[in-house]
Amino acid sequence: MTNTKYIFVTGGVTSSLGKGIIAASLAKLLQSQGYRVTIQKLDPYINVDPGTLNPYEHGECYVTEDGAETDLDLGHYERFLNTPTSQANNVTTGRIYQSVIRKERKGKFLGKTVQVVPHITDEIKHRIQLLGNSGDYDIVITEIGGTVGDIESLPYIEAVRQLRWDLGENNGIVVHLTLVPYLSAAGELKTKPTQHSVKTLMESGVQADILVCRTEHHLPEDLKRKLALFCNVTQESVIESIDASTIYDVPNLMLKEGLDKVVLKKLNLKCTEPDVAKWNEFLKRHKNPKTEVTIGLIGKYVELQDSYKSILEAFIHAGAANEVKVNIESIHSEYLNSDNIEVKLAHLDGVLVAPGFGERGIEGKIDAVRFVRENNIPFLGICLGMQMAVIEFARNVLGIKDADSTEMNTATKNAVIDLMEEQKSITDKGGTMRLGAWACDLKLGSLVRDIYKAETIKERHRHRYEFNGNYKAQMEAAGMIATGLNPDTGLVEIIEIPEHPWFVGVQYHPEYKSTVANPHPLFVAFVAAALKYKSKQKGVSMARN
Ligand code: GLN
Repeated sequence: MTNTKYIFVTGGVTSSLGKGIIAASLAKLLQSQGYRVTIQKLDPYINVDPGTLNPYEHGECYVTEDGAETDLDLGHYERFLNTPTSQANNVTTGRIYQSVIRKERKGKFLGKTVQVVPHITDEIKHRIQLLGNSGDYDIVITEIGGTVGDIESLPYIEAVRQLRWDLGENNGIVVHLTLVPYLSAAGELKTKPTQHSVKTLMESGVQADILVCRTEHHLPEDLKRKLALFCNVTQESVIESIDASTIYDVPNLMLKEGLDKVVLKKLNLKCTEPDVAKWNEFLKRHKNPKTEVTIGLIGKYVELQDSYKSILEAFIHAGAANEVKVNIESIHSEYLNSDNIEVKLAHLDGVLVAPGFGERGIEGKIDAVRFVRENNIPFLGICLGMQMAVIEFARNVLGIKDADSTEMNTATKNAVIDLMEEQKSITDKGGTMRLGAWACDLKLGSLVRDIYKAETIKERHRHRYEFNGNYKAQMEAAGMIATGLNPDTGLVEIIEIPEHPWFVGVQYHPEYKSTVANPHPLFVAFVAAALKYKSKQKGVSMARN
């Protein structure tokens, strides 16, 4: 047993209230007072991890240093806290059952009937305490996915109930996030949904300690009093969480409401003034840009903003670093073709071709790469985006017309992008890609070497296909250079076109490592390149006038 304290964050009334942001904001405030904090997400679905989920389902799949494919909330945790998470920070029902069933097959339950209570709940409790027992943290915040009252959340709520009992007073508290809707016809804020949601939680034996109430309007004191009275909490435990213009405002809003203070009081821990100076410095730059650039984000999941969450956030960090507002224009690759490409891309200051899987929309991505390559528009290709840049170059510069990736065309004679050797015998889809952090040596004199200011970097991967080394010499002779190589396997991780003002393709995902405290150097440099391109364009058009 360690002295770790636990905070459980549950959600009521409706989904999408932003539990992840509240958890991350609270963690930030606690971290800023010197506490060692981590956040964990428990997801009640049966997939073992979100790696096999279509981005339309739950948004982007976030990848950690240790190669876990996780919920996108872990991205928020890392971006806010600037500390890495791991597989232990994301557990699903699928994973819980998988380990219980594995134990059962090994005969570990000694002939007992294996049941939800106690076996599944014990496994959940074990997973929650794994982080706390590591000794690395003073406080573990566990976010329970879903909404109270969901059938699939029940074992988690029961585990929380038991754990609070096991841990004893002042060691485990429940922060319940709810919605206080405003009925415009009545001109009133309504407390009833929150009362019901707290009641639902109580039916499972869990009394909420603190209510964080999402609202579009300020909560008057008498309404807070009413909520406190009917939900059995102290008035200072009713926290208003008003809609914010940016998620990065939420830590300050929670500080103003005293969330950290009441949490620490209930955990019997000392509360001091959090040091949020650096955070506020970032906010100041983010909110007071000196100029703006427009970057096209070309992908096939653009209808859902969450699909490219980490990329969008990385642009916010990079924008602040450059004191530039980065306008993102989402462009659906499926509707791009050589006829409309100029209309859709010519006005952009930079283009990012997004990661992705499968055939849909890839010809549009290839057309986009050609346009930006030929027109000197700054380009960043990530994972599939880098692969499309390689195909485009092979087809249009080397003249290999049937150059392709075997992901899209297994019959191609010129697989410039091919399945990695170790992937060839794999049939399972879940957790089998090249995942997590891998080292990459940067070529002396390259653009990336200058950007990273390092000889070797470590970046996170999530893919099955790679640049086919057999074409490397040919590509390099024609001007596309492999400037980042894996030191052990020689796999090409980065390509550049030195003739172009800014053309970089990376096989890995830099977006996962961008945080408020450490904006990613590639994104920072890309935004700077877009800015430079824009001012040059302006110069050209002024000269014409
Ligand atoms: N589909 C490609 C691969 O598996 C790219 C993956 C990605 O963009 N994350 O290699």
